[in-house]
Amino acid sequence: NNNRHDRDKEVNVQVLLRCRPLSDEEQRTNIPKVISCNEHKKEVTVLQSVANKQVDRVFTFDKVFGPKAQQRSIYDQAIAPIVNEVLEGFNCTVFAYGQTGTGKTYTMEGGMRNKGGDLPAEAGVIPRAVRQIFDTLEAQNADYSMKVTFLELYNEEITDLLAPEDTLRCTDDRQKKPISLMEDGKGCVVVRGLEEEAVYSANEIYTLLERGAAKRRTADTLLNKRSSRSHSVFSITVHVKEASVGDEELIKCGKLNLVDLAGSENISRSGAREGRAREAGEINKSLLTLGRVINALVERSAHIPYRDSKLTRLLRDSLGGKTKTCIIATISPSAHSLEETLSTLDYAYRAK
Ligand code: ADP
Ligand code: MG
Repeated sequence: NNNRHDRDKEVNVQVLLRCRPLSDEEQRTNIPKVISCNEHKKEVTVLQSVANKQVDRVFTFDKVFGPKAQQRSIYDQAIAPIVNEVLEGFNCTVFAYGQTGTGKTYTMEGGMRNKGGDLPAEAGVIPRAVRQIFDTLEAQNADYSMKVTFLELYNEEITDLLAPEDTLRCTDDRQKKPISLMEDGKGCVVVRGLEEEAVYSANEIYTLLERGAAKRRTADTLLNKRSSRSHSVFSITVHVKEASVGDEELIKCGKLNLVDLAGSENISRSGAREGRAREAGEINKSLLTLGRVINALVERSAHIPYRDSKLTRLLRDSLGGKTKTCIIATISPSAHSLEETLSTLDYAYRAK
């Protein structure tokens, strides 16, 4: 009886771990590696010696991708099944979580496209998902429509990365288009004031993505380290016509959110000295709350604290319930990142 109850409320949170290779610079300076990945056993080992004693720690995940793992293999093994769910009419979210410099943006964006328009080997999750969605719908000869949004969340404020005018440079608040979060009566999240682009081809989406990503980089140079403190959320909504019954049309609607989170150092470091960090406004409320929401979902708590941050309010209709969530935790193999790596592993492990 209890078992059946559990299965009805199955939690669909998958946690993957990806370790990037040492950079050229790190190799040149002989920085020791402290991470060993066993993809087959789905284990990550942190090699640590304390007072000449080896005290390794082992973490297990749903999937583990070592430094040699290709973008394509991560996509095919972990993300393609999620995109299929979206095409079946479900809402799904993929997060990249980890310290700045560990490969979140590389994993999510990577190289967008080659000159000829086909996907380069370094193409990440976003361009591959776009390609899969279009290819599948075209092969089915489906009657569909698609729209995308691309936004950035910084200091609990939403910036539209697709807005045509250069809002990021604009310091005059009166000229900024206000963006507000609301829910319609049916539990769907509505972001008012956000540019929603209808798209008809993969290439069109790549152009939008490049525009948005460039805007994010501009903001980064204007405000130091902005991108390490901000979240970017790329969402694709797909409507597919299933059948016509008389005058009525049956439509399947699915949404895919692809989220490049703020650097995890924004919560882990401040966790130790929370009081002072809060004063300095350093704590990333959305990142902290996301951890709590995922914990609450995994532990099947009665109360899920969606309302406590912008990010979780924004993703409310795509987290929990029948939705699928995938967290890609990214780490560096370098000894210099050991402390951050352990806190990422702990965070990701708790989400399982
Ligand atoms: P983050 O977004 O987490 O701050 P980036 O994605 O910008 O990190 O990655 C930092 C650097 O490491 C970039 O130069 C990126 O190209 C490189 N990098 C990250 N992951 C990999 C990987 N798996 N293989 C090769 N290079 C990588
Ligand atoms: Mg990044």
